[in-house]
Amino acid sequence: MKKLFSILAALLLAGCAHVFEKPGKVERMYVIECGENHVKDLSRWTPGQNVGKPFVFGDHCYLIKHARGWMLWDSGNADRLAAMPDGLTAPNGAVTAFMRKPLVESLKEIGIEPKDIRYFAMSHSHGDHTGNANLFASALLLMQSAEYAALFGPDAQKYGFPVANVEKLRGIQVEKLNGDFDVFGDGSVVIKSTPGHTPGHQSLFVVLPKRGPVLLTGDMVHLVYSWENDIVPGFNFDQAASHKSIAAMKAFVKETGAQVWVNHDKAQHVLIPKAPNFVE
Ligand SMILES: [Zn+2]
Repeated sequence: MKKLFSILAALLLAGCAHVFEKPGKVERMYVIECGENHVKDLSRWTPGQNVGKPFVFGDHCYLIKHARGWMLWDSGNADRLAAMPDGLTAPNGAVTAFMRKPLVESLKEIGIEPKDIRYFAMSHSHGDHTGNANLFASALLLMQSAEYAALFGPDAQKYGFPVANVEKLRGIQVEKLNGDFDVFGDGSVVIKSTPGHTPGHQSLFVVLPKRGPVLLTGDMVHLVYSWENDIVPGFNFDQAASHKSIAAMKAFVKETGAQVWVNHDKAQHVLIPKAPNFVE
């Protein structure tokens, strides 16, 4: 019995070690402040809760240095908003968007330019993620087929996608995805299909060399609280798919031991070093 137990323990340990023995080739990741979104009524994002409560969402871009090139995940609010100290309020008045420092400046501080980005992917196509997308037309675009069809099809506005943000991406080199995608083929950066918020919403799994695995949620959830309590906005494209994606990612996180980093959760991101510093 004792022997069986030690064999089981050894197997378990081997199972755990497996996750960390596969560090991949990510060298480091920069978490970049890519704006702020001030909302009048948080209950739009947490139905039935926080009614009438104003709230400030963070907005982040993530720049990954991999041995095979730079990858940018999300592009934040538009750099032009940096010239608007009072921000830009959406026509329905629900959100005022700010950009404190242009993304181009943040990249410059790190020592790169937009043309250095080889792989460009966004969690989805809303304006607070596509704000600077046009800067990355020389990269390979990694997008779910469903999102691509919605964004570049005739009904983009119906989905709430600001097409001007992506006009330079029309017709560029693209890898259309139909599910998960291992970007570098070594398991270190994997796009996870998490539809629901939009037709082809995706999240990003990154294995950092020292911290280990991290899941960047995009807008699958908007707050750590929403992740923990399975809460999604009423305006999501598909409610059932949204909850299914959360459940799938909860299982994935349990399996991989990944930390969950929620793009818009400002309080969580306060604890994460920001560019020009980096995480590794
Ligand atoms: Zn967002």
